[in-house]
Amino acid sequence: MWAFLNGEFISKDEVRISPFDRGFLFGDSIYEVIPSYNNKLFLFHEHFERLKNSLSIINIPIPDSINNLDLLIKELIKKNKFSNQAIYIQISRGVDPIRSHVADDATLPTVFMVSTELDINPYRENPQKKGLKLSLEQDIRWKRCDVKATTLLPNIIPFHDGDKSNVDEILFHDGQKINEGSKSNVFFVFEDLIVTPPKEQNILLGVTRNYFLNRLSEEGFNVSEKEVKVDDLSKADEIWVTSSTKELQPVYKVNDIVLPEKEYKEYYWYKALKILEEDLKSNS
Ligand code: PMP
Repeated sequence: MWAFLNGEFISKDEVRISPFDRGFLFGDSIYEVIPSYNNKLFLFHEHFERLKNSLSIINIPIPDSINNLDLLIKELIKKNKFSNQAIYIQISRGVDPIRSHVADDATLPTVFMVSTELDINPYRENPQKKGLKLSLEQDIRWKRCDVKATTLLPNIIPFHDGDKSNVDEILFHDGQKINEGSKSNVFFVFEDLIVTPPKEQNILLGVTRNYFLNRLSEEGFNVSEKEVKVDDLSKADEIWVTSSTKELQPVYKVNDIVLPEKEYKEYYWYKALKILEEDLKSNS
């Protein structure tokens, strides 16, 4: 497998990053994950814009090498050969041998990229597969979840706290307000209304979230960005999570609340996945 580090393509096993990299010492870095299907990037522009936005919010200068990011990624995809890949890009403020909150002005960002084979969403092939199990947790993350920061301790701890072997995703709530998953955005269906928490809440503006919001409303579904409360969970007809690698996946259970079951073709999530499948056909 190939990776990309600071302007060079090298074997994944040969990647070396200094422990003085601020990404390692401080989590002073941001990342992006972009899917490619049949060797074609999906929603590249949206991911690129978010990457630049994350860099600009934390004042890391945009490295020159990413001006041609699409070409670099295409090269990586070619080298790593899998027809479907997830491309991981991380940019840190760079290596500074003096460990200080204040980086030296001369510090140059570290740009790292690697890709892995992308497993196709199992719910496309098998829509009758049992949905995901979610565990509700208090959201203790920082207040800038719009930045796709690598500093992910609060997203990781709940998976390592007690027995979570049965839990597929953590659903964060802030008091009554439901925000998002630890690695996904969340959608709810109440009768014929599809709802996702608004961008004013402390969430990452998921590229997949925005894609489904736009496409579902273009296709005439009743979609809205609105606060959803913990107390509303037991009234939901469907819950889904979305992300670039998982696409859209249905939820079966949140803590002890089990979602109602019906014939799979009647689920809104199934209809949403069909829209994606059609769009992917025209993407290739
Ligand atoms: N929220 C969080 C906290 C995430 O980590 C992710 C996945 N990176 C998402 C939402 C989904 O974002 P996207 O659709 O852009 O992959």
